[in-house]
Amino acid sequence: MTHPHTRTYWLEHAWLDTHVEPGVAVEVLDGRITAVRTDVPTPPPGAEILRGLTLPGLANAHSHAFHRALRGTVQVGSGTFWTWREVMYSFADRLTPETYHALARAVYAEMALAGVTSVGEFHYVHHAPGGTPYADPNAMGEALIAAAADAGIRITLLDTVYLSSGMSDKRGGEPPNTHQLRFSDGSAEAWAERCSVLKERDHARIGAAIHSVRAVPADQLATVARWAEERRAPLHVHLSEQTAENDACQEIHGCTPTQLLALHGVLGPRTTGVHNTHLTAEDISLIGGSGTGTCMCPTTERDLADGIGPAVALQNEGSPLSLGSDSHAVIDLLEEARAMELNERLHTRTRGHWTAAALLRAASADGHVALGWDEAGTIEEGALADLTTIALDSVRTAGPLPRLGAETAVFAATAADVRHTIVGGRHVVRDGAHALVPDVPQALAAAVEALRG
Ligand SMILES: [Zn+2]
Repeated sequence: MTHPHTRTYWLEHAWLDTHVEPGVAVEVLDGRITAVRTDVPTPPPGAEILRGLTLPGLANAHSHAFHRALRGTVQVGSGTFWTWREVMYSFADRLTPETYHALARAVYAEMALAGVTSVGEFHYVHHAPGGTPYADPNAMGEALIAAAADAGIRITLLDTVYLSSGMSDKRGGEPPNTHQLRFSDGSAEAWAERCSVLKERDHARIGAAIHSVRAVPADQLATVARWAEERRAPLHVHLSEQTAENDACQEIHGCTPTQLLALHGVLGPRTTGVHNTHLTAEDISLIGGSGTGTCMCPTTERDLADGIGPAVALQNEGSPLSLGSDSHAVIDLLEEARAMELNERLHTRTRGHWTAAALLRAASADGHVALGWDEAGTIEEGALADLTTIALDSVRTAGPLPRLGAETAVFAATAADVRHTIVGGRHVVRDGAHALVPDVPQALAAAVEALRG
């Protein structure tokens, strides 16, 4: 007997964590999966039909929405992470709550079209240029939360502490530069006070982030860790993306950034280090041993010439892996997943460090845990009804046997093969079209144009 408000989805093929199952009926009530039935060879009457391979919704665990405005611009010429950062600041200078809302709505719509159902927004542009708070000091964070609702996806707003332009032996570190003034609350205490006002909603969770050990002086770290601990909220931190950060940390504190974070209570199972690129063997043990997660952002790391982080070693030591599109050079979680494996192949000249199943777990279940959405990322009874369907009949995916759907999705499909995205039982993307944002390319173009100097 079916409950009158239950909706049934019929999945032509479903990824059930370990294997592809043909013919699966998923029942959904109030945004949650209430039953998963296998051996259903034909769609039950009234069911919504999802042709292709349906995966649990994808989690984009690391995003800076406004970096989408840099696409193309920063692919001209040469340089380093540090020259890229100057261009990035010129866009950050121009954001307002209105322009940021318009851009983030379009970017999150692009994510939904790529099968992303939850985003972790590492958010640090808090105040007006020069550092004056807006009338609502959380106007920028609220713009992002509203943008996610408008685009139909979940968000974890990782409200980020950013206080200094670099490490120094002075208390408080080096003061923020002109661009960074709007990122700073002045102290971790003031950050906590502002951030504590933010309210969670059905589609939005609030977490914390430490921009980096460059931007948060050592004596401020424990305050942030405590805030996250008290709320059992996720805590993210950019960690050792650049060797210059390691060098400065050694010079000022006589230890690595990882050791500094460990010393101030930042590491732990609700913490995620983003990038974790340039680590020592001891760093890897500290991260893995504490259960701290690792968010790899391979398309950004290769775009910025960061290097290849030791993801295999981190996972072997106990660090769960998640994936993020970070600077949005591209937004494609399938590409992030395969890039992690393919980077490792080039690095080691051996194949098969992760199975397609393990890569999908990073892109869905473990990514959701990193964002505090533990009940999403699997197709099972009780889970949030977040689903992503990949076409198995496109020019890229036609041919392989359906039972090889996970391998096909991870190693051949792209964001363009996402046919349906369902968030909380709601069809956000249907047949490759966004149901809430009518013309996503036009919305992106207009939002980026509004920020161009
Ligand atoms: Zn980042």
